[in-house]
Amino acid sequence: MDTRIISGSEIAKAVRADVRNEVKTYVQAGRRAPKLAVILVGNDPASEVYVRNKSKACEKVGILHDTINMSADSTEEEVIKVIEGLNADPQVDGILLQLPLPAHLDEKKITQLVLANKDVDGFHIENAGMLSTGRWEAFFPCTPWGVIEIMKREGLPIRGKHCVIVGRSNLVGKPEALLMLAEDATVTVCHSRTPDLKAFTSQADILVVAVGRPGTVNGDMIKEGAVVIDVGINRTEEGLKGDVDFDSCLGKAAAITPVPGGVGPMTIAMLLKNTLKAYKLHEQID
Ligand code: NDP
Repeated sequence: MDTRIISGSEIAKAVRADVRNEVKTYVQAGRRAPKLAVILVGNDPASEVYVRNKSKACEKVGILHDTINMSADSTEEEVIKVIEGLNADPQVDGILLQLPLPAHLDEKKITQLVLANKDVDGFHIENAGMLSTGRWEAFFPCTPWGVIEIMKREGLPIRGKHCVIVGRSNLVGKPEALLMLAEDATVTVCHSRTPDLKAFTSQADILVVAVGRPGTVNGDMIKEGAVVIDVGINRTEEGLKGDVDFDSCLGKAAAITPVPGGVGPMTIAMLLKNTLKAYKLHEQID
């Protein structure tokens, strides 16, 4: 079987083009532009790169952006004050608190202080609750939502398929399961306590792997004709690797996402989409 290699980079480009066109329409009609505010506490080099990439991506689609740089020793009160200011600012549609926060700050508590209707990361429990109860005005976490976008834009059906997800984090696995259920897949979720992972992965029509360990899944563990979506990003001596042993799936999977260039580029694209969604909510655009 010829395995289709899915280019997340191309799909992300198409998503960005759609966001850019829509933003342009609103601005040309005399409305304000959408705006994303990013709070960066400290000088973590990886976080600085991520924040820069997000700013650049905003710029390219006409979304205004503002990065609030705060020193690594900022107090909880100082960070909360910034969040409250952005919550109250009617020009700001999306607020993103770049993680991880320095160790002395309570990440769980602080992420919940961003207003749910500006929570473009989809981390707020109100958004998680809306997702689990089928309220589609919610903001969905960008990475699992990006997987759904890949499936749709590639014309890969979800309804009636057996989707097996490996990983149950709040960031990826759990919301992915809910999104796949909403798309009428039959969903199985595996995790580190799942005995005999292969017994499950080999039943998957759609296999989503989000573990954080290279080689968690290989070609022996998948069904002929499966769609394999590799969310993993692992820095190894041989460079960036996913969670799936890509080469061993070629010829057996119907389609597969590579790492890099698969799910990764979708995350920022979906962040732009969420910011536009927040803007439309705030501007009361249907
Ligand atoms: P977490 O560490 O939060 O969760 C990992 C999950 O994998 C857990 O549910 C864990 O189970 C499960 N797991 C660990 N070992 C095994 C195993 N041997 N067999 C089966 N399941 C196992 O990671 P994230 O969900 O945040 O991220 C997963 C991967 O996706 C990482 O590589 C991360 O870098 C990447 N990622 C990529 C993004 C992108 O933009 N493409 C965005 C976000 C993440 P348990 O719950 O039992 O511990």
